[in-house]
Amino acid sequence: NGGKTLPVRIGIYRNADGETIPVSSACDRARLACDSIKDVRVSTDCFYREQLMEDAIKKQYILENFEKALRERMISIYYQPIIRASSGKVCDEEALSRWIDPVKGFLSPAEFIPVLEEEGLIYKLDLYVLDRVLEKIKIQERSGLTVVPHSINLSRSDFNSCDVVEEIRRRVDAAEVGRDKITIEITESMVGRDFDFMKEQIERFRELGFAVWMDDFGSGYSSLDVLQSIKFDLVKFDMSLMRKLDDGDRGKIVLTELMKLSTSLGLDTVCEGVETEEQQHFLREIGCSKLQGYYFCKPISFNDLLERYKTKEGVIGYENPAESDYFDALGRVNLYDLAVLSGSDNASDSGDAFQNSFDTLPMGVIEVRGDTTRFVRSNQSYREFIKRYIGLDLSFEGSDFTIFGDSFMYNVVETCCVRGVRAFYDESMPDGTVVHSFARKIGHNPVTDTYAIAVAVLSITPADEGATYASIARALATDYYNIYYVDLDTEKFIEYTSPVGDEKLAMERHGENFFKECLEAAGRIYEEDREPFFESFTRENVIRELDEQGVFTTTYRLMDTGTPMFVNMKITRMQKGSNHIIMGISIIDAQIKQKKAIEEVQKERDALARVMALSEGYLSIYSVDPESGHYFEYNTTAEYESLGFAAEGDDFFKQGRIDGERVVHPDDLPDYLKYFTKENVLDTIAKKGVFNLHYRLIIMGEPKRVTLRIASVREADKEKLVAGVRAWKERSN
Ligand code: C2E
Ligand code: MG
Ligand code: MG
Repeated sequence: NGGKTLPVRIGIYRNADGETIPVSSACDRARLACDSIKDVRVSTDCFYREQLMEDAIKKQYILENFEKALRERMISIYYQPIIRASSGKVCDEEALSRWIDPVKGFLSPAEFIPVLEEEGLIYKLDLYVLDRVLEKIKIQERSGLTVVPHSINLSRSDFNSCDVVEEIRRRVDAAEVGRDKITIEITESMVGRDFDFMKEQIERFRELGFAVWMDDFGSGYSSLDVLQSIKFDLVKFDMSLMRKLDDGDRGKIVLTELMKLSTSLGLDTVCEGVETEEQQHFLREIGCSKLQGYYFCKPISFNDLLERYKTKEGVIGYENPAESDYFDALGRVNLYDLAVLSGSDNASDSGDAFQNSFDTLPMGVIEVRGDTTRFVRSNQSYREFIKRYIGLDLSFEGSDFTIFGDSFMYNVVETCCVRGVRAFYDESMPDGTVVHSFARKIGHNPVTDTYAIAVAVLSITPADEGATYASIARALATDYYNIYYVDLDTEKFIEYTSPVGDEKLAMERHGENFFKECLEAAGRIYEEDREPFFESFTRENVIRELDEQGVFTTTYRLMDTGTPMFVNMKITRMQKGSNHIIMGISIIDAQIKQKKAIEEVQKERDALARVMALSEGYLSIYSVDPESGHYFEYNTTAEYESLGFAAEGDDFFKQGRIDGERVVHPDDLPDYLKYFTKENVLDTIAKKGVFNLHYRLIIMGEPKRVTLRIASVREADKEKLVAGVRAWKERSN
């Protein structure tokens, strides 16, 4: 037959139990069996079964009642939320049809959709769904409710029945709904059959501004070619993959690799059919960006949705659209692909996407908000890295960590977030290992003022490798002014210096006889500090402290800039038991000066307290800034305290008048208010040097004669007022 065959379909009706039916009916049944054979490429036969008749009747019913069901809104739309893995909030909703029939009851899409598809009627349903979705969006917008993108499902025959792309565009625009609010779901099987045509239609949707998702990926014989050749916005993994997760490692491996593949191609991912806690945990871990399934919410009607809004019951909460871009960017970081990390937008188009998808650099995404950092995403090797070097288990997501040192916060955060450029940085781990990393800003959340930074570990240098000293030095550059690497056995050393104010610790000097050289450089130390410094900074002392405390520190003043500058010296061993040490000198001048200022105030307080103790009769003493009126109380007696005045305040004169109304004897109050004004007090002091006011306070129900005395003092080049309330010595009558 020359290789040419014609497949035959054979339907057989066998009247086995002797039922009497007309021959024409018997033929109909055979025909039904024949028609049920879908695959026409090979010769097949099929026997008639009762089920076939039932199906035929149902099909008949569906076709006869479909238009009516649409007209009378027997088909209603249910919505299933899709949850963003990184935020736990609803980021999309999928519209699914439900035929609730007065005669047949609840019909599932699996029953009526294939029938409508076969008859080329599904486009009516799909456009009807779109109209209902647009109505819903309008209602939500009018009620001020958050509107997330809604995805609708299309069938292959939609594209034959009409120009569905244009039809959808027209309706969405007519409704004045943003095109970004409608997402098109297209199953992978739809594409396979007519590749070039579907590719073109998908491109048309995307050019118009509609996102297009590939639905049910992995349900049939998935063709990776489709993913590779057609640009989708997202790939939705079929729930059959989800079901296979529970069977063991193989299912996990398949999904992990598919996820890796998709993200390498620059695609977002959704897993549908998520039903358990374990599943969702695993999916987050492998970097799935969105999740859908009964675990979060079943498809529910719009009314039920609104009801939930009202009662706030079981509401997962919608993502603020202002944050969507941020979360999108966060989810899109492909932790397997360095090209994405380094900011090349078209990683999927670049030739090395393939190559990159197979590297396993430790990579993670960190959120920075103020001075807290949080791991939001990480790949397996990053988790292993953090676990090994920092001892943290990143599989517990969501908690805040502050493992990053100041150097990271200042250098990386400042560079990436504020200046928006990429940062290379080194960190030394507690065991001395030096980790060279790379960071890039991913996005900024304008609502919470949070930055997302992607980090990748580029190299890890073990502690005992010679080259590390320079990198440690670099790592610590901004924190330290000088760094020394010293071998205590030979006293050979390397010195790294950074000129004051320079970020880079660049200058390098090799030397011998470390402690001797230090002594010779004594002139750099402020005279007063020299003796105590050399008393503690001896080889023996340093070793002893290192053995006992693990660290040696001392603070002193250097004269390098001409004026004394406070520095802190810190020495640690490179490794436990090693006689190789790292010594860092950091400038702490600012902190010390601030601390000194605080000490000054404390000294002043103490001094005034002494004055009070000596000069009998003072109830309280205040220090007042004559310009701002800001004041604080230095010291006070229990008696005076019972009046309940604030110990500090913004306006001494205003507060004094308010308090006066409460505690000054009513007979004395008019005079008190007359004289105790800011203007009068300052005026009097300017003229007479001191302001005195006599009145009676009501203390614990008893009138008590007091004098308020205010004088001006000059201290540290600043004018200040000192106010004292002094009790009169009561003469016994
Ligand atoms: P789909 O687009 O893949 O929709 C997801 C299906 O999974 C829905 O079934 C949904 O109810 C179900 N599902 C969601 N989460 C879970 C879960 O955790 N566990 C389980 N077991 N199932 C879950 P549904 O509504 O029966 O729809 C079946 C299919 O019918 C849909 O698959 C979609 O391809 C099609 N379909 C539904 N509505 C329409 C429509 O209006 N137009 C077209 N063309 N197709 C539709
Ligand atoms: Mg779908
Ligand atoms: Mg699906």
